[in-house]
Amino acid sequence: MKIKNIFNKKMVFSFEVFPPKNTSSVDVIYRTLDELGDLKPDFISVTYSAGGSGNSQLALDITQKIKSKGITPVLHLPCINYTREQIDYTLEQAKNCGIENILALRGDINPNIPPVEEFLHASDLIEYLKQKGDFDIAAACYPEGHPDADSLDEDIKNLKIKVEAGADHLISQLFFDNEYFFNFREKTAKAGINVPIEAGIMPVVNKNQIERMVTTCGASLPHKFVKIMQKYEHNPEALRDAGIAYAINQIVDLAAGDVDGIHLYTMNNAYVAGKISEAVAGIIKFDEA
Ligand code: FAD
Repeated sequence: MKIKNIFNKKMVFSFEVFPPKNTSSVDVIYRTLDELGDLKPDFISVTYSAGGSGNSQLALDITQKIKSKGITPVLHLPCINYTREQIDYTLEQAKNCGIENILALRGDINPNIPPVEEFLHASDLIEYLKQKGDFDIAAACYPEGHPDADSLDEDIKNLKIKVEAGADHLISQLFFDNEYFFNFREKTAKAGINVPIEAGIMPVVNKNQIERMVTTCGASLPHKFVKIMQKYEHNPEALRDAGIAYAINQIVDLAAGDVDGIHLYTMNNAYVAGKISEAVAGIIKFDEA
């Protein structure tokens, strides 16, 4: 099933998982996929290393496992550290696994790995993918602007290049203040970008995640979010419940604003994805054609 065909039928609801670094956790991720599959998302996307971590085969194995559950998999494919030959090899394997949907990415530039420079931007990979087969192509977008861009307007100009190269739909970076998303959507529409945009939602449910949010993710942390995290950071159960509730509130507000879809960064946590799915089930079904 090509993802682009789902958007005109309903609000898309999808999950993201990542391959564990530790191979002894493979059984755990497979059990998690069983539980996530039971929640019947429209698709599950699988992250792929931008180079260096060596978990690429596992990413492909995970997509096969997702497919065997009757759920559509989406393979992430970063290009900055890969040669054309390496990309061809992955695409060949993807085709053998029956993968029709690819999230085309540049990947983060690692200061310790000089970029291969055969594909400089996601748009270069998208042009290449168009020649290589009949893939449904997703691309990433950034409601607060990509950190490498001088401004949100410049980033949106570059996003338009990606869409014109052939991206069928977009998945956003996580954000905690919906106003950034709504403002971004208005700006992209004015710029003539008219493909569906899924909103990326990350439930923050443990202390490690809070620390990571503060130090690495470029997303703004609204006062109300910081207040909740500060109040519950020393009580794991309360923090988990508060993080789930915050994500649900974001989703309800986005759905009321006619978002095209919600992409849940599950962090491989089926319990959290389950609680959120259950809470928003009626909302996701609301406008099904
Ligand atoms: P690009 O679209 O190439 O953009 C990067 C920068 O270049 C931006 O500043 C943009 O404004 C500019 N730019 C874009 N196109 C052009 C152009 N044609 N000319 C000039 N400038 C241009 N990383 C991984 O390694 N593995 C993953 O699985 C993964 N999954 C992700 C999933 C999602 C939903 C998101 C939002 C991100 C994901 N990332 C992943 C991270 C992503 O690779 C990084 O954010 C990376 O820094 C940018 O990737 P991109 O595809 O958006 O790059």
